[in-house]
Parts: sequence; structure tokens; C-alpha cells
Amino acid sequence: MNNKKHISSNMSQIYTMDVEQDIRSALDFANLLTRHKIRGEFYITGQMLEKYPKQVKQIAKRHIICAHGYHHEDFTCVSYKDADRIIKKTVELFKKHKLKLIGWRFPGFKFKNSQLKILVKYGLFDSSIRDVAMQRWKSILHIRNFLSNMKRRRVFLPVRFPKNLDERPWSKIDLNDSRLYLKQGRLVFHCYNYKKIKNEFENYLNELPNRSKLRGISYINN
Ligand SMILES: [Zn+2]
Repeated sequence: MNNKKHISSNMSQIYTMDVEQDIRSALDFANLLTRHKIRGEFYITGQMLEKYPKQVKQIAKRHIICAHGYHHEDFTCVSYKDADRIIKKTVELFKKHKLKLIGWRFPGFKFKNSQLKILVKYGLFDSSIRDVAMQRWKSILHIRNFLSNMKRRRVFLPVRFPKNLDERPWSKIDLNDSRLYLKQGRLVFHCYNYKKIKNEFENYLNELPNRSKLRGISYINN
């Protein structure tokens, strides 16, 4: 049975990694997923691409490439105009390296509401919002982001999120959770602590029951 088609819907468990340092861990993670024929998503800074173009292109052969700021900026400290400039510069850098960029994750998941409009403008989906927050706050999620930023002493207008925003929320990965295999969505790994959980994650992949394969992991078709 070819179940690859129906898993490519958004009902998938997708492994994602934020890469702003430690290219070795990113490569390790990519290779592990490739060995399991799983397609992951890598959120990479422009700076890392400048420093390690070969390695990033290696990852891009099998996996999806998204961006994670240019210098891992804190976008809550950046004006709309500067945010646009940074995102544009990042998009152009990936283009220059012939890498197709389809999504974005704000460093530290921190952003001002208005900046989501810039992602729409450049045709990128966003993956900076946690799924539990989305479910809890629904249509007033923009207020929630306003409040979180206020706590960080970053005050700006609580404008609504753009209607045509393509939001693909992230969620936490907990390898001790015995029902983790039932979790859907984009699970976040960080390059800086990957080494610590690497073996545990490999065990998890090895032990995944077949039924979870049916529930949907994004597989590499070629
Ligand atoms: Zn990061």
C-alpha cells in the first residue's frame, strides 16, 4: 500500500530543528532522519548558510529548508522596516544559494504581530506560535502575543494577525511521553542540545509502532 500520499497532509508528525550554531548536530539530525526515510524541517539562520553553504546544501537534498533570522535577531527589538530588511536579506541569500525557502521561524519564537505581514509578503509560512497557545487563544491570539511581549517590556500595538497568514504551529517534544507517537505537528529540536537527546530520539524512531507510520510522518519519497 502506498500511504505516502495521504500522509503529506498537515496531519503529520514533523521533526524540525532550529539551527543558529553547531552545524554538526544539524547534519547528524538530518542523517538520522534520512536513514529512517523521514523528511525533516530545518530552520537555519542566514549567517549559518554563509558560514556552511556546503553542509546546508547537503541537508537541503533530503529535507525542507526554512529560515530562522539572519543573525538570530530578537525581532521584538526591531522596527517593522528593519524586520522587512532582515527578512528580505535572508530570503535573497537563500535564493543566491539556489535554496528554496518556504517557511520561517522567529528566533526565540519572539516577534511583533505586524511582522507576520512581512512573511506573507515573501510567501513564507510561519512556525513561531506554539500549538497549545493557538488552541487556547484562537481568534485572540494576537492579544496573547501582545501580552507576552509586554512582559518582556516590549510594547507595540496589538494589531491582528494577517488573515492570509499560513501558520504551522510548533510543539514541544517530550521523549518521556509514552504517547508522543500520537502527537501531530511540528516538534522542535534545538541544535545546541541535540547531542543530549540524540540516542533517546534514535531509540524512539526505532521503536515507533507501525501504526504511527500510518498516522503520518512526513516520508521521503525518493
Ligand atoms: Zn533559535
